[in-house]
Amino acid sequence: MATGIVGEFLDLKAETDADVLAMQCGDFYEFFADDAELVADELDLSISQKSSHGSSYPMAGVPLSELTPYVNALVERGYRVAVADQYETEDGDHAREIVRVVTPGTVLETSDDDARYLAAVVREEGATGATADADADGPYGLAFADVTTGRFLATTVDDGGDLRAELYRFDPAEVLPGPRVRNDDGLLGAVREDLSGRVTAFDAEAFAAGRAEHAVREQFGRETTDSVGLDSTLAVRAAGAVLSYVEETGAGVLASMTRLTAYGADDRVDVDATTQRNLEITETMRGDADGSLFDTVDHTVTAAGGRLLREWLTRPRRDRETLDDRLDAVEALASAALARDRLREVLGDAYDLERLAARTTSGSAGARELLSVRDTLALLPALADAVDDTALADSPAAAVLGRVDRDRAAALRAELADALAEDPPKAKTGGGLLKRGYDDELDDLIERHEEVNSWLDGLAEREKRQHGLSHVTVDRNKTDGYYIQVGKSVADRVPEHYREIKTLKNSKRFVTDELAEKERAVLRLEEARGELEYELFEELRERVAERAELLQDAGRAVAELDALASLATHAARRDWTRPSLTDERRLDVEAGRHPVVEETTDFVPNDLRLDADRGFLVVTGPNMSGKSTYMRQAALIQLLAQAGSFVPARAAEVGLVDGIYTRVGALDELAQGRSTFMVEMQELSNILHSATADSLVILDEVGRGTATYDGISIAWAATEYLHNEVRARTLFATHYHELTTLADHLPRVENVHVAVDERDGEVTFLRTVRDGPTNRSYGVHVADLAGVPDPVVSRADEVLDRLREEKAIEARGGSRGGGSGDGESPGVDGGGTQQVVFDLSSGSFAGDGASDSGRETGSASRNGTAADGSESTTRATESDAATARLDAETRAVIEELSDVDVAETPPVELLSRVQEWQERLD
Ligand code: ADP
Repeated sequence: MATGIVGEFLDLKAETDADVLAMQCGDFYEFFADDAELVADELDLSISQKSSHGSSYPMAGVPLSELTPYVNALVERGYRVAVADQYETEDGDHAREIVRVVTPGTVLETSDDDARYLAAVVREEGATGATADADADGPYGLAFADVTTGRFLATTVDDGGDLRAELYRFDPAEVLPGPRVRNDDGLLGAVREDLSGRVTAFDAEAFAAGRAEHAVREQFGRETTDSVGLDSTLAVRAAGAVLSYVEETGAGVLASMTRLTAYGADDRVDVDATTQRNLEITETMRGDADGSLFDTVDHTVTAAGGRLLREWLTRPRRDRETLDDRLDAVEALASAALARDRLREVLGDAYDLERLAARTTSGSAGARELLSVRDTLALLPALADAVDDTALADSPAAAVLGRVDRDRAAALRAELADALAEDPPKAKTGGGLLKRGYDDELDDLIERHEEVNSWLDGLAEREKRQHGLSHVTVDRNKTDGYYIQVGKSVADRVPEHYREIKTLKNSKRFVTDELAEKERAVLRLEEARGELEYELFEELRERVAERAELLQDAGRAVAELDALASLATHAARRDWTRPSLTDERRLDVEAGRHPVVEETTDFVPNDLRLDADRGFLVVTGPNMSGKSTYMRQAALIQLLAQAGSFVPARAAEVGLVDGIYTRVGALDELAQGRSTFMVEMQELSNILHSATADSLVILDEVGRGTATYDGISIAWAATEYLHNEVRARTLFATHYHELTTLADHLPRVENVHVAVDERDGEVTFLRTVRDGPTNRSYGVHVADLAGVPDPVVSRADEVLDRLREEKAIEARGGSRGGGSGDGESPGVDGGGTQQVVFDLSSGSFAGDGASDSGRETGSASRNGTAADGSESTTRATESDAATARLDAETRAVIEELSDVDVAETPPVELLSRVQEWQERLD
């Protein structure tokens, strides 16, 4: 058993459930034993050995002032780090205690401007048992806190799908699962899968209704749960757990969590995690921030503005009033270029008040941070000037500033201006933080301090003059304190009251009683001044912290103006238009564009109309013609409108939706090795369950992951269900040409297609969407582009024509001597032609050795238009020769080939599949 310092370390370590402990030992924080090895490994610290009672322990350390970056680096890697500080006990010994546990969700000094959330998830107590399917039941209570800004939200969601959507949206750095959630493998697995953050098992008691409610009331006052509309015990339990955790980790930011915002599913557009990913709202499918919708429309000039704009895009709203307000503001800002530029210029000087508020309450803000608070509050009048007396004066942009108590803000600014020195040092102690005139006692100390200093400054001159000495200097160092140094040549002429303290090579050092007394005075005054000043500074900081809410209001106003101005800037630059919002069930877009694709492409605008008579569009067209782009464009225009933004179109009437659901090619799932078809069906199932008559549904291919007949059947049935039962506004792109006939049967289904110009076998994409179905499908064209051997392509073309015209195709085995290259042709032994008729209506092969007459009928009718019978026969023979080379394997290859989605298959996989087909055809 280790004793001494290592023993103390190990005892403290046993007390905490943190992964690593940093313990203060004098001027260093030390790590011992396993912890030393871990930090040495992770952070490249050098390791030494500390012996303690015969044993030796690894040890690593960092200087006090450098602890923060090391702790942050560990936390970034997912560790929870406990910090133990040293203090002096009453009997003068040193003891240590853990003062803070820094965790991914409670770290304050973050390296970027993004929000950083700590989340808690609780599930209704009740029926137990592991649920493999995370979507199976709920409800769940959820709370999210960004301790760096004090933002705190809580809600309840109905099921696992909604839970995952919320977690995806907030992307928390740390999640605290409640007792039931953490014991549910299926759910926990699902949560982990979606998240990059850490999952921490926190004291189950903290999630209990009674304790959680107590924590919420302690924080926000007795009435909160009612006043913020938090009527759900589940949401309160999650919020309470978050508060307890923040308190327990010692982050010291509880005071900056000034309000709890309850939000419900009712005021938000339901955008599930898959759809958020598909629409590339904050990151592309590949996971890059560049090229996302947010990246494209973000012109904010402050960190808080960027956070808010991101929030608007990821959490679109349903209430007309808020949206119209935002749109009014964007409209005013978009059409007042000069005023907007002026406003953005002023905003550009603002610091992050929400973060500064958290830093003041946690006590980590220094004088420079308080100066930033002062300077940002000082911008409020300038912001008001930029808004009043301009075209913005009557817009909601002006109202944003109206929500800040400007008098209180001005008072706080003045208080800070009176207190803080203009250019304070970085160090919090050591003086120079406060202005003269701020505090009489401090002024008095400073005056006396300076008096002594000037006495000391003049001492050398005075001694020279009085005692006729040359070569005299007065200085101070750590060992000797203040001394008078006299050159050797005159050292024997010093007056009697000089006491020699040191002899150097060329000089001697002396002190006098008076100097010693002044030295004591200086030290006393220095200490008193430093102490008083820091005390006054702390008081000042506390007074600022008490007004955290004011700072947050002002910060929020800055953020809102910035986000609005950013939307206006983009609208003006890209000539976007104000959407006219309506409660009618319609989406009517004139000359719409894709907000991201138009940045880099000469974009061809397209119209779109979805309404009561035309609620379901089947979108057809060749691969790469622009179907996906057209559909995503519709979803993004809807989303932008409900974020309060202008939209890329000449005109747009947008009926508000309660949810946007998409299902598109699952590139990422394929990469994760999950069955694409299963995922596809899960997504479809979710949409069919969740969508309502007020939703927008985008389906980009359904049923591709299975055999053709399964696929068509599922797509067909899903269309009927969406059309008849759900009645959601739907866009459905499909390569099943068969589905275009649905328009003849279902009243609200219409066909549109992306037009192409096809001449001499060359396809030119026009990118124009027109009414009506395509006249053919283009899978075979893609096979050609991909370099599939010519005989296969031409045969595929033929099969396609036959299927289309006759709904049946004959398949034949090979026949030796049947055609060119016969020697190499694989075939069915025994010679002769083996024929199978594949009947589209039954989806089966109509028996081996189907009669020649069937084949001939087919040939005859296919070539029936030919005027010359003999030519027809010749062609039939040629084609027979080609057909004759096709055995069952070849047919299988063709089938697989036509099922491949070239655009959605990774190139490497495509190549390997082509190679596989070639091998099988050999
Ligand atoms: P599909 O879904 O039909 O396979 P995509 O929507 O993926 O086709 O579009 C293929 C390419 O065409 C994309 O790279 C896109 O940038 C471009 N594109 C699509 N629509 C347009 C348009 N309206 N104007 C210009 N380029 C477009």
